[in-house]
Amino acid sequence: MKQLLRKLVQAETTAERGERAGAEVISTDLGQSGINSRIDSWDGNRANIIAQIKSAGRRGALLFACHLDTVGPGEASWKYPPFEGIESEGRIYGRGSADMKGGIAAIVTAIRQIVESGVKLKGDIILFAAAGEETDSCGAKRFVRNCGGTPELAGIVIPEPTDFEVITAHRGLLWLKVTTIGKATHGSTPELGVNAIASMRAVLDELENYKIRFEPHKLLGECSMSVNTIAGGKTINVVPDKCDIGIDIRTLPAQNHQNIIADFQKNFARLKQKNPEFDADVSIVREVKALETDSSCDFVKEFCSAAGINETRAVGFTTDGPHFTSLGAPVVIFGPGKPELCHKPDEYIDIADVEKAVEYYKNIILRFLT
Ligand SMILES: [Zn+2]
Repeated sequence: MKQLLRKLVQAETTAERGERAGAEVISTDLGQSGINSRIDSWDGNRANIIAQIKSAGRRGALLFACHLDTVGPGEASWKYPPFEGIESEGRIYGRGSADMKGGIAAIVTAIRQIVESGVKLKGDIILFAAAGEETDSCGAKRFVRNCGGTPELAGIVIPEPTDFEVITAHRGLLWLKVTTIGKATHGSTPELGVNAIASMRAVLDELENYKIRFEPHKLLGECSMSVNTIAGGKTINVVPDKCDIGIDIRTLPAQNHQNIIADFQKNFARLKQKNPEFDADVSIVREVKALETDSSCDFVKEFCSAAGINETRAVGFTTDGPHFTSLGAPVVIFGPGKPELCHKPDEYIDIADVEKAVEYYKNIILRFLT
């Protein structure tokens, strides 16, 4: 298990390098227990991997849905090199060790042990690991699009780092790009142009007063909005014809993303009425719906009982979970590793936690499928 985790970290599955090397590590590991898997590869180095442990039984299958990719190492310096999977003081250090290669190593190991034990399963286990969770969820979307033939599911488990809490809800995300369009002219004659940065100031003023409508959610709290990037102008002596901002909105299950976008368009129309030279556009950079699994449903109750955990919680981060809800089964997020270490320098996971996760996943598989 430790070697598998180290190899997964060494596969360096960032957006630049793609996921293929990570998929191959899993395929080889599963192969050692005679488990076949299929790597679905595109654009050279992008990859998903799928393995299905077929059973003779008729129970609903369990889908374990992981992601292969990680964010980059970032600018800050690391105590240990980020892609070597160094072991120190009972931890494995490296980018992705917690998010979520520790979870992958645990579920792959649990599945191998179940298969090697020869226990008769009454429903299938499906292991899936996706490309692109950290960027555009391309791998999860591709899987859901092509999942014809997938057996009926009892439930979906996402082995993301939750430090062994059972998570049933998270906010969605709606990333918007707003572009103001002006008219370029020489910097010495601004009266002949339309300054896109000045137009953006009007947008920012408008956003200052704009409150997205929402009802606070009992687990997830409030919807939030923050303008986090701005770019405009190329040279100091040209009136800019374009200015962009990037807005990060975190949404609640009851909110409709289209309504938020319609609000933006209404605001722009009002600004154009006041100033006919104003022109702006809004587009979606990325969106993931909020996740809300009914924590009183049978699957969640049974899952908690198998894990020996009494309560379910919500988290601040977003997962691929909402993309899988169209498969018609409840989704829970549960795995080893501390969520606060994700995306930071010196990311690590305690080896004991990964070992504990192997036992948890085996218990869950046995509870549902035997
Ligand atoms: Zn993750």
